[in-house]
Amino acid sequence: MSFKDLQLNKPILRAAAEAGYDNPTLVQEKTIPLILEKKDVVVSAQTGTGKTAAFALPILQLLFDRQDASKKGKKIRALIVSPTRELAVQIQENFNTYSTYTNLRSTVVYGGTSIEPQKDILKKGVDILVATPGRLLDLHKQDVINLDYIETLVLDEADLMLDMGFIDDVNKIERLCPKEKQTLLFSATIPHKVEHLAKTILKQPERIEV
Ligand code: AMP
Repeated sequence: MSFKDLQLNKPILRAAAEAGYDNPTLVQEKTIPLILEKKDVVVSAQTGTGKTAAFALPILQLLFDRQDASKKGKKIRALIVSPTRELAVQIQENFNTYSTYTNLRSTVVYGGTSIEPQKDILKKGVDILVATPGRLLDLHKQDVINLDYIETLVLDEADLMLDMGFIDDVNKIERLCPKEKQTLLFSATIPHKVEHLAKTILKQPERIEV
């Protein structure tokens, strides 16, 4: 199977080709079509399987296809929540690469570092935000982040996120987003507490295992 068979459009295909991707990985083959259909999904996949592109490519395509030229300023339309700074940075680097031929912008915010520069970038407007839970809630409390326009929420490494004690933060973040949205949950393993989280916040999710 090729990326073209997955109904990805030109700007996305071009970026994937330039990243050196010849064909989709298994998790991409299974996940991309469901995300493009706007389904909620629970994906159990390890790091290294290509899972970041499995959500980043279709999210970029959905945002790219439905841009409202009349809207002034950028609104955050996709939010990716990641348990650690390192993972968050990697995810945003992926979005940055794949969005080269779109006008979509992304940034990353995480704790343990000065908040002011993050605020300055956010004030300029981004379409896609990658964040660790605590810093995201801080910035929201300070009114720098508006989650009212989120169309897609991704919880990445959900098992790790819960192991690190972020369950209350994750629930809070979900409630700050609109009720009508697409939610994607990625996790290396699906223990009971991840299953419970999926049951609580996802709507009739499709399940993918690789
Ligand atoms: P991840 O599982 O998202 O951490 O990705 C693991 C690595 O696979 C990253 O370095 C990606 O750049 C790379 N990758 C993702 N998708 C593909 C693909 N379709 N073909 C080749 N490499 C890929």
